[in-house]
Amino acid sequence: MKFVDLAAQQNKIRANLEKRLFAVLDHGQYIMGPEVYELESKLADYVGVKHAISCSSGTDALMMALMALRIGPGDAVITTSFSFFATAEVICLVGATPVFVDIDPRTYNIDPDCLESALKDLSVADETRSGNCGSGEINHLTPKAVIAVDLFGMPADYDRINRIAKKYGLDVIEDAAQSFGAEYRGKKAGSLADIACTSFYPAKPLGAYGDGGMCFTDDENLSNLLKSIRNHGMGAHRYDHIRLGINGRLDTLQAAILLSKLELLPDEIKQRNKIASFYNRELHAVSGIYPPKYQGRGDRSAWAQYSVLAENKKQRNRIRRALQEEGIPTAIYYPTSLNRYDIFRCSDSINAHCPNSESCAERIFSIPIHPYLTSLEQRRIIDAIRETRQ
Ligand SMILES: *Cc1c(COP(=O)(O)O)cnc(C)c1O
Repeated sequence: MKFVDLAAQQNKIRANLEKRLFAVLDHGQYIMGPEVYELESKLADYVGVKHAISCSSGTDALMMALMALRIGPGDAVITTSFSFFATAEVICLVGATPVFVDIDPRTYNIDPDCLESALKDLSVADETRSGNCGSGEINHLTPKAVIAVDLFGMPADYDRINRIAKKYGLDVIEDAAQSFGAEYRGKKAGSLADIACTSFYPAKPLGAYGDGGMCFTDDENLSNLLKSIRNHGMGAHRYDHIRLGINGRLDTLQAAILLSKLELLPDEIKQRNKIASFYNRELHAVSGIYPPKYQGRGDRSAWAQYSVLAENKKQRNRIRRALQEEGIPTAIYYPTSLNRYDIFRCSDSINAHCPNSESCAERIFSIPIHPYLTSLEQRRIIDAIRETRQ
């Protein structure tokens, strides 16, 4: 059994994939070729936003978003304590300070109540509190933005997140690296904040055969900035550099691959949702296993991962070993709460504890949910988990 089955997916589109790739080999525009613009236009339509700006990875998409919002040293960016490292890494790369906020353990996403209290704390000048963040103290940090993450494909609660952020004058970035194809209150992931960022890493819901990413926004000014930042701060013409940027372009070959895979995406998302419903139904009846919270009306996860909580770390590791013996692969996303990384310790003074996130890091594990998983395999996974509880 495979955790992700890219070979089964490729079999379905091999002919079209080859046609797309040969077209690039024939025209030879490997950098910013026509497939790049075709993909941007198709994905902007799919997501329902005005502008899509492709780039070299999900990480670069997030960094470009922070650069476009002019976030840098002295600024605080509030984010979830439970995500892939890159979500917080980019905040430090632009010189700003991450402030970690705890999660709702049933959705694994940032808890809007914790977000609100973190912003209250940051806005209150507290003379008694001092940070240990290099030369600066946290009182001197200016909160500028929130990065919310749609972890495992489930959109965060943007109605509340956006409302709270606007109250404090902050921009919101949606880290949609895992949620391309998901929906929140009938709107597509990628359209839920001021700027959204996704990743085309091969194992993501829409994956390339290499690295890639994209930013989405309705704001024309931000779109122009992102395009410039993606290409060394380019101005009106090629050697007119008017700001600092990066080499953040998406390869034409990857765009061609993505165009071919895009045709499968709607069915794949449906299939992932079918499997998730089956898992949810079956696992609710298993004691000591906590499946993720079911969505509300108009919400749909992209189910990049299906992650459950065990009672504790020992249980989790025991279940994983038992599944491994049955030939069922599992994974841990993520073994460390972001606030616990030494590299982010400069913000420890602001967020010493994120108890839900820290507990999830010890109890969580993910089981296979790729769209080419057979009914028999799904059944085997559930039976094997049930077996460990007897
Ligand atoms: C994968 C991922 C990223 C980074 O994307 P890359 O394309 O690998 O750079 C950022 N945030 C989250 C939540 C991710 O899952």
